[in-house]
Amino acid sequence: MDLLIPDKVHDESRQGEALILEPVGKHNGRKLYIESYGCAMNFSDSEIVASILAEKGFETTADFNNADVVFINTCSIRENAEVRVRNRLKEFAGAKFKNPGMVVGVLGCMAERLKAKFLEEEKLVDVVVGPDAYRDLPNLIEQVDSGQRAVNVLLSREETYADISPVRLNSNGINAFVSIMRGCDNMCSFCVVPFTRGRERSRDAYSVVAECQALFDAGYREVTLLGQNVDSYKWTKPLPALSEGEGSEEANQKVSPLTSGGDLEGAGVVNFANLLEMVALVSPELRVRFSTSHPKDITDEVLYTIAKYENICNYIHLPVQSGNSRILDIMNRTYDRDWYINRIDAIRRIIPGCAISTDVITGFCTETEDEHNDTVSMMDYVKYDFAYMFKYSERPGTLAAKRYADDIPEEIKQKRLAQIVAKQQEYSFYRMQARIGMVEKVLIEGYSKKSDKDYCGRSDQNAMVIFPVSENYKPGQYVNVLVERTTSATLIGKIVG
Ligand code: SAM
Ligand code: SF4
Repeated sequence: MDLLIPDKVHDESRQGEALILEPVGKHNGRKLYIESYGCAMNFSDSEIVASILAEKGFETTADFNNADVVFINTCSIRENAEVRVRNRLKEFAGAKFKNPGMVVGVLGCMAERLKAKFLEEEKLVDVVVGPDAYRDLPNLIEQVDSGQRAVNVLLSREETYADISPVRLNSNGINAFVSIMRGCDNMCSFCVVPFTRGRERSRDAYSVVAECQALFDAGYREVTLLGQNVDSYKWTKPLPALSEGEGSEEANQKVSPLTSGGDLEGAGVVNFANLLEMVALVSPELRVRFSTSHPKDITDEVLYTIAKYENICNYIHLPVQSGNSRILDIMNRTYDRDWYINRIDAIRRIIPGCAISTDVITGFCTETEDEHNDTVSMMDYVKYDFAYMFKYSERPGTLAAKRYADDIPEEIKQKRLAQIVAKQQEYSFYRMQARIGMVEKVLIEGYSKKSDKDYCGRSDQNAMVIFPVSENYKPGQYVNVLVERTTSATLIGKIVG
């Protein structure tokens, strides 16, 4: 096991999910099957892909054997993600053998690195498309129809798909992901994302707010703003014709969109705190979540904005990766242990009761037992509500792969991982237990997985809450639930109004 508690950011239960949408007006008689792996950003990208192809008349199907086009949206963050995709492609090859007209394609993060292998060497696929080239999919499919193989893995400095309103796949009609930026400019030494998803770019703030407004109008009650490092979101409204002295970065800085109540009349630089506020102002009934925050960039301004609006959820995912400053340095995280603790203290001071989750990597290159113990002591300090915990997995092309030997033996990585997983289970249970007797405001998401006599939904702090169905309330409504007992991952209680 390399992952402890699933949530909506990298939900292990959704890995490999086939995404389906309700049929839209026009048909071209062809069916699309799309399966997604990895982080929420990938699932959100699959919605963009489905939207682009729905425009061309494709319907979706949940059965790849019935499909004309089969796509797998891939993740290459850890080696096991790649192994899974390759096995799946072999199954698709079997279906293609029976239906030679089927187009099989690889999308997303594995595209660039493995294009030659998939297309020419292993001949597993007909088309390979990188995360910035989805607008080209209709052309690429045509190219395959005409008997060629097709590839577009070009990364872009501009593409944000801002104008594409994603169709919602397998949606409960209540929560939706909204991508606010793409790529990443950090160079964490273990990470492939800067290579697979390219440079960081922020999406037009107007289009983000418009998408959230449209979701709210359609009945959605929760949006999760997505980016690899949301705290570095920065969008500059293009200026109209300028008079002398205007238009510089400095002049733009002075015109915050929030000086006029969150609207963008005039010009301005919108940072993440501003964007959060603009989305929160869509409606007090729309919950706002976001992921992922980066410890080096999360500002007090963001924390004060969270504290100011009741509908911005009190939950921050703040990946630490390691509790040891030397390891953080060679990971190139650009903060140290003291800086991280300072950010945790700021969260506790400005947003009392805020839930905090994290990502941890064990067994990074050269990590000693004492350095590992610094991660353990960081867990003791923060007492995280949730954590995703991984063994270090060397990724080709990354700075760490070039500079450092992957020298921690597998059994030591595993032992350290097991230790922090056990520790986290204790703290998750501790955090859950602390809620007993409290009343949580819960957005009802639907029936619980185990029983249609129970509803499930999330608390403000992102804990899953289970409680008996009441005829008076429907999914999409808020209810107050008194917490009576817990497991280490779920609060259990009853509606009190
Ligand atoms: N942008 C986010 C951040 O900086 O925290 C993380 C994005 S990454 C998709 C999700 C998590 O995967 C990382 O936080 C890290 O813990 C884990 N991860 C990334 N590369 C890894 C590797 N080579 N080995 C093990 N875990 C890795
Ligand atoms: Fe990867 Fe670091 Fe960027 Fe996160 S911030 S996506 S870990 S390079």
